[in-house]
Amino acid sequence: MRVIVLGAGIVGVSTAYWLAKDGHDVTVIDRQPRPAQETSFANGGQISASHAEPWANPATPFKAIKWLGRKDAPLLWRLTRFDPELWAWGMRFLANCTTARTAINTERTLRVALYSRALLKDLNQSCKLDYDRKTEGILHIYRDGQEFELACRAAETMKNFGLNRQVVDANACVAMEPALAPSRSSLQGGIFTPEDESGDACRFTQELAKLSQALGTTFLFDTRIKAIEVEAGGFKAVLTDKGAIEAQACVVAMASYSPQLLAPLGIKVPVVPAKGYSVTLKAGPGAPSVSLTDDEHKMVYSRLNDRLRVAGTAEFSGHDTSMNDYRAGLILEKTLGLFPEAGSDPQFWTGLRPVTPDSVPIMGGTKVKGLYLNTGHGTLGWTMGLGSGRFLADILGGNSPAIDPQGLGLDRF
Ligand SMILES: Cc1cc2nc3c(=O)[nH]c(=O)nc-3n(C[C@H](O)[C@H](O)[C@H](O)COP(=O)(O)OP(=O)(O)OC[C@H]3O[C@@H](n4cnc5c(N)ncnc54)[C@H](O)[C@@H]3O)c2cc1C
Repeated sequence: MRVIVLGAGIVGVSTAYWLAKDGHDVTVIDRQPRPAQETSFANGGQISASHAEPWANPATPFKAIKWLGRKDAPLLWRLTRFDPELWAWGMRFLANCTTARTAINTERTLRVALYSRALLKDLNQSCKLDYDRKTEGILHIYRDGQEFELACRAAETMKNFGLNRQVVDANACVAMEPALAPSRSSLQGGIFTPEDESGDACRFTQELAKLSQALGTTFLFDTRIKAIEVEAGGFKAVLTDKGAIEAQACVVAMASYSPQLLAPLGIKVPVVPAKGYSVTLKAGPGAPSVSLTDDEHKMVYSRLNDRLRVAGTAEFSGHDTSMNDYRAGLILEKTLGLFPEAGSDPQFWTGLRPVTPDSVPIMGGTKVKGLYLNTGHGTLGWTMGLGSGRFLADILGGNSPAIDPQGLGLDRF
């Protein structure tokens, strides 16, 4: 079948790869000159399937209130902006913060994340991919006693989902990651997830694009997608600034730009952008080697060979990707507070996480025949990307996907 994939981030390229592997004739369109130049460019690098819990959970509203008005808040909602869609999304997000909804959304997220991590391990066994991969697990560190206690309880509960979360004391944290030694006295303990891993999502996406190209996929870069043409209730063509391109099917994987494209077709996609920041350092002698999550500051650390990537913060401020020097500087400041010799030559970046109100991606068909969605991967697009691509290729090709599709599609809203 001739299929067009819109977007060459981790999600679009993974979708294209699996579709091409299944023998489809695939064309990927993106406005950038190469793959992974937007949200998949410099993210936190973690494949954190064992910690794939939804943002929408009972603790988030209280934390958000506590952080209100604080310029250094890990989560910032710009109250000065009146955007009816963002507010409607916010109400839905709140409705998903109950204990019952969190349990449902956790299971759905884990379904995709664990599947994706397993596929990534398989792919790495069958192909040589160069993307600064590290398979040493992820260590969550805690400095607040109460937060650590809650995390220990959650580790116990998450065993019901088959997750291996190991509770470790502060000494074990330092033994695992000696770069934590200068902060030993402030550490309460950690939670270690040995099966998780890390790597450079941008390099991986580019490597996968090469594999996909070798399977016959065409990439049309520097091409702006303007609209989708529908005829007799079915997908007909994609209209771009370089002309119309026809196909039998189309997958929209344009992250937080998906809703604007689909709205004229009467397809409402509840995905909003949540801006995050990262800083990439030339790793110094005190840079951590194991991938870490600092739960208190909501920051993640991934060692990418001779670089250290640190990412965090969430800001609901529309599609604005401008650099707020204060917030970017905070990430660096907190990094150097924990690891005084973390590194030098900081490179700052911002990206827009495509977030759904229930923190579960939207994957599957639409009311338009031949038009599919693979979007809304929020904080976990790198973790879930490869599996989401395989899932969508199965749905589109009429095969039974390896994971249950219930609750993953647009019809849940
Ligand atoms: C600070 C930060 C840290 C993160 N850390 C992690 C992490 O540690 N682990 C993890 O799993 N996830 C993490 N994420 C989330 C992850 O990066 C995203 O979920 C993922 O990159 C989304 O991939 P995507 O392919 O959907 O989007 P993108 O990579 O943004 O791809 C969408 C593509 O669509 C194209 N496009 C959009 N509109 C148009 C148009 N009109 N015409 C043509 N092309 C268009 C864009 O150019 C882009 O290439 C992080 C995100 C941020 C911001």
